[in-house]
Amino acid sequence: MNKRDKGERRNGVYLSLEEAAAGVGFILKDEEISWSGKQGALPFLLPESYASLIDPDDKKDPIRRQAIPSAKEFNPAEYEREDPLGESAFTVLPFLIHRYRSRALFLATGRCAMYCRHCFRRNFTGTDEEPEMDDVCRAAGYISGHPEIKELLISGGDPLTLPAKQLLEILTIFREVNSDLVIRLCTRVPVTAPDLVTQELISGITGFRSPGLFMMTQINHPRELSPKVRACIANFIDSGIPVFNQAVLLKGVNDSAELLIELMHNLLKNRIKPYYLFHLDMAAGTDHFRISLKRGLELYRELENNLSNLALPAYGVDIPGGGGKVNLTEGGIVERNGEFYSLRNREGEVFPYLDPAE
Ligand SMILES: *Cc1c(COP(=O)(O)O)cnc(C)c1O
Ligand code: SF4
Repeated sequence: MNKRDKGERRNGVYLSLEEAAAGVGFILKDEEISWSGKQGALPFLLPESYASLIDPDDKKDPIRRQAIPSAKEFNPAEYEREDPLGESAFTVLPFLIHRYRSRALFLATGRCAMYCRHCFRRNFTGTDEEPEMDDVCRAAGYISGHPEIKELLISGGDPLTLPAKQLLEILTIFREVNSDLVIRLCTRVPVTAPDLVTQELISGITGFRSPGLFMMTQINHPRELSPKVRACIANFIDSGIPVFNQAVLLKGVNDSAELLIELMHNLLKNRIKPYYLFHLDMAAGTDHFRISLKRGLELYRELENNLSNLALPAYGVDIPGGGGKVNLTEGGIVERNGEFYSLRNREGEVFPYLDPAE
């Protein structure tokens, strides 16, 4: 028997770590073997297509690191939190988070196609929690009563794991209460399980593309842009759905300037606009993925020096506990004294600047 055929799968998805290891043909490390899906842990689920990107001979493979759990997840650092972004304080209705005046976020399902080991919403992700249509209608009522909300992020979990019909119904309900509502579909399915994307889903979503529907995906490593993933994303783009990427800066996955530059360039080549590079949130059990802000800023400086403004994402960090997002791009201002500024350009040179409008 071919070693790649040994692992058990159901519908092309590995359901246990051991099955996946046998299927992909790699040997489990001690820290992986001693992982067990304790009650309350982020579950394990790995689609075959994502598993096939893992190099079985590389124990430090960046794809493996995102997909294969480690016992380290059960040893949270003391600064880590169950609710790293303090979202509970902004949860205005079940499944609806309103943190920023002009945009709200709806949690369409707790399920994902794969459970990323660095997931920051692991408190909710992987649970069976899912809004009923009543919850969707109540959330839509809130949006309707808050016309300052111009954009709705549909996230989770992963909304593309929902049956197409259900997702399209959700889009219909939200657009019914505000026909100008710009929608962002936040999903990793095109990367982790492109096989789940059906033509029915794409044509259905296309019906909502005006006044603006964007797909926000999470591609963290150039190898994730496999031919199958590229074809899936191209299908969305060709159907009028622009695609943006929100990468997460992850130790042992993409914490190298060279690799990030390659990633951003390859995204652009595939018509995907790099939108954010997120510094890792302080979610419980993700410490092994963390690099320092200082190192992150060094890497970001390299990106600024080497990428076009089109290929450059914003470097964002969320202040733990609900302080919100910060763009770490203000390093351009070195000093300010009234109207006199010292500004640092992309090459790192500092220039005087006199603001005539001051
Ligand atoms: C990130 C985020 C948004 C969107 O922020 P942008 O900077 O506009 O991309 C909206 N709501 C919540 C709760 C968020 O975490
Ligand atoms: S797809 Fe998103 S929500 Fe789901 S596990 Fe990965 S990071 Fe978390």
